[in-house]
Amino acid sequence: MTLATATGDISPDQIIVPSGHWIGGRTLEDGVAPLSVLRPSDGCLHGAVAEAGAAVVDAAVKAAQAGQAAWAAMRPRQRGDLMRRWADLVDRDRERLARLESVVSSRALHETRANDVPAVAEWLRFYGEYADKLEGTVTASGDDRLSLILREPYGVVGIITPWNFPLFLATWKLAPAIAAGNAVVVKASELTPWSVQGLAELATEAGLPHGVINVVHGTGPVTGRALVQHPGVAYVTFTGSTATGARIMSDAASSGIKPVALELGGKSATVVHADCGDLDAVADHVTWGITRNAGQLCYAGSRLVVDERVADELVHKVVQRMQRLTPGPTWSDSTSLAPIISERQWSRIDSLVQRTVDEGARVQCGATPQRLQGGCFYPGTVLDDVRTDMTGFREEIFGPVLCVQRFTDPEQALGLANHPVYGLSAAVFTRDIQRALASARGLKAGTVWVNRWGRTPEMMSSPFGGYGQSGIGKESGRPGIDGFLRSKTVWVDFAATAELAQGGRR
Ligand code: NAD
Repeated sequence: MTLATATGDISPDQIIVPSGHWIGGRTLEDGVAPLSVLRPSDGCLHGAVAEAGAAVVDAAVKAAQAGQAAWAAMRPRQRGDLMRRWADLVDRDRERLARLESVVSSRALHETRANDVPAVAEWLRFYGEYADKLEGTVTASGDDRLSLILREPYGVVGIITPWNFPLFLATWKLAPAIAAGNAVVVKASELTPWSVQGLAELATEAGLPHGVINVVHGTGPVTGRALVQHPGVAYVTFTGSTATGARIMSDAASSGIKPVALELGGKSATVVHADCGDLDAVADHVTWGITRNAGQLCYAGSRLVVDERVADELVHKVVQRMQRLTPGPTWSDSTSLAPIISERQWSRIDSLVQRTVDEGARVQCGATPQRLQGGCFYPGTVLDDVRTDMTGFREEIFGPVLCVQRFTDPEQALGLANHPVYGLSAAVFTRDIQRALASARGLKAGTVWVNRWGRTPEMMSSPFGGYGQSGIGKESGRPGIDGFLRSKTVWVDFAATAELAQGGRR
């Protein structure tokens, strides 16, 4: 691998990050800041954050309760207007947010400018439009009874997010949560704390009441747990690993039977049939599916399930594409292979790869970790002849590692593609539309793409969420906001009311 050059790029040291926590519309400085935040691109220390303990989390939840009361008292249309104004400020400050997002994450600056931050603004507008369209229902029962099914916010929602798409994944949750009338306390990953805070500061400038959006920093076991267990938090929504999701579910159960929504890990398959058509186009999808953000993506297409008749040619084309990727810092325009978020994650990827090789997988390319100018990089890697008892099949690697399984009979494809644990997404490539639809029905995954891989911006109107241990609940689209509302049935008995008015009894 040759490292991307830094020509024409910005200096990361120029990127000034917010300080403290963001609570009740202002910065709360909390003494010492013991958590170092490193840049994965070059391993340098960029800053530090304080860890919110129980007292700071309590202050954030109380601020959110006050903010929610003010927010809920507004007309829904006004809430939507404020969310749209917030989106305009995100557009105005796109460069600042794009830099905050990429400096300590694996997200390339050219992508955060072009995709991530514009998507955040669109998401705020999309859900802002829903704010005054969350109608309940009315049912009449005879002439003298009426039932009103009201839809109400939970109150304060706790949001816990990972490091791989920090800004966007937080916005996925907070935009529908507040459009539904809730206030939120967000705990971003301790590895990527600042971009969400930059976004929250703009909410206050846009005119959202203080306390509608709060951000606290810290590790999962301290700050995350305190948030989940706080009695003032009525609902918890989490994106991250399956293991952490299970812990959060258990903490939410033992601290008040709180509902949870979980977006968890994946081991998604791309099924390629021999009649798929242009193998170059398929190879582009497959390569992008596992190398986008260096494979640090929940719905990464980490398994290729391919018909033996086209397997060698397709694998060859994927290998060629992977070998053309240029690793480099997130702030370089020429980077096409992102850094791995941390040394710990980098070692984990390599150990899972080496185990799979020891178990008999064949290395087609990659499989050698690299340190380049202080950053941790992992090359695009293809492991072939992977069996279902191997580590590479079973475990989410969360790196640019594609595991190939071949089939000789198309009837075998679904059996190989369906994973015993995960079911986040899948893709199928075939020109036979009947086969495509039969596969889509047979694939145990929350989302199936036919003849493409990955979401497009217009997919914001369709739900996204996993089967099996990939999660509970749906984000995106109308279901993404419905989850943040609970229903209340109100029975109005006119006959009884009339009797009461006349002083009689039924
Ligand atoms: P992680 O589970 O380690 O951490 C996620 C968040 O949870 C962080 O903010 C962390 O501080 C917090 N946390 C950790 N322990 C906690 C606890 N006991 N209580 C409360 N909070 C706690 O995940 P990660 O390494 O940051 O992210 C990678 C994982 O996220 C992968 O498994 C990936 O598949 C998953 N992910 C899923 C989706 C999806 O939509 N399904 C999207 C992105 C990432």
